[in-house]
Amino acid sequence: MDVTLATAWLRAVADSVAAEADELTRLDSAIGDGDHGVNLRRGFTAVTALLDGTGFTGVGDVFVRSGGTLISKVGGASGPLYGSVFRALGKALPPGPSATLPDLAGGLRAGLEAVRALGGAAPGDKTIVDAYEPALAAFEEAVAGGAALPEAAAGAARAAGDGARATIPLTARKGRASYLGERSAGHQDPGATSTWLIFQALADVTAP
Ligand code: ADP
Ligand code: MG
Ligand code: MG
Repeated sequence: MDVTLATAWLRAVADSVAAEADELTRLDSAIGDGDHGVNLRRGFTAVTALLDGTGFTGVGDVFVRSGGTLISKVGGASGPLYGSVFRALGKALPPGPSATLPDLAGGLRAGLEAVRALGGAAPGDKTIVDAYEPALAAFEEAVAGGAALPEAAAGAARAAGDGARATIPLTARKGRASYLGERSAGHQDPGATSTWLIFQALADVTAP
């Protein structure tokens, strides 16, 4: 993972979030306040502007500054949560222009730990964690098995999609959807869905 690939990944997330903004908002209208697509589109549009206008000191810096942008530009819960993910990912990477695949796996784990520390969600609470945790497990398993980045990212994206769909029957225990109690069951979690888009974007930009 180098500065060019990190930048391409975040631009692909921005494109995907913009293309899927209406769908994310529809999901959030069912169990939240209907702004998840708008929140993420605003945040990643600001990230794109950052990428256009900035020279980065290294690959970690791309993620740290993008995460800071999400934190400052997104009002909803998802801004600080995803902002913390990318900041933790960036801080976990070694300084310099590129990171190895094990570095990236470690950085993605730091991102999961950050979102769990900030939000307090466990697997099964119907949040970002329900897509992120299985995606990371698939990524780590692929890396441990000797896979290269494209294969590891594709496996992570599949697992994230499965995890997002598996939130449908769950009752939310964190975030706004938890106010609905059992009425949150029967709807796919918006944040788990956007986490899937983030891992799918990594798979797309690394696909051979
Ligand atoms: P808000 O709820 O402030 O309007 P968004 O609509 O942008 O923010 O994001 C909602 C998503 O954030 C939810 O679908 C859920 O996946 C995620 N989320 C909310 N609270 C938490 C939490 N404590 N931990 C992890 N993810 C959370
Ligand atoms: Mg919302
Ligand atoms: Mg909101």
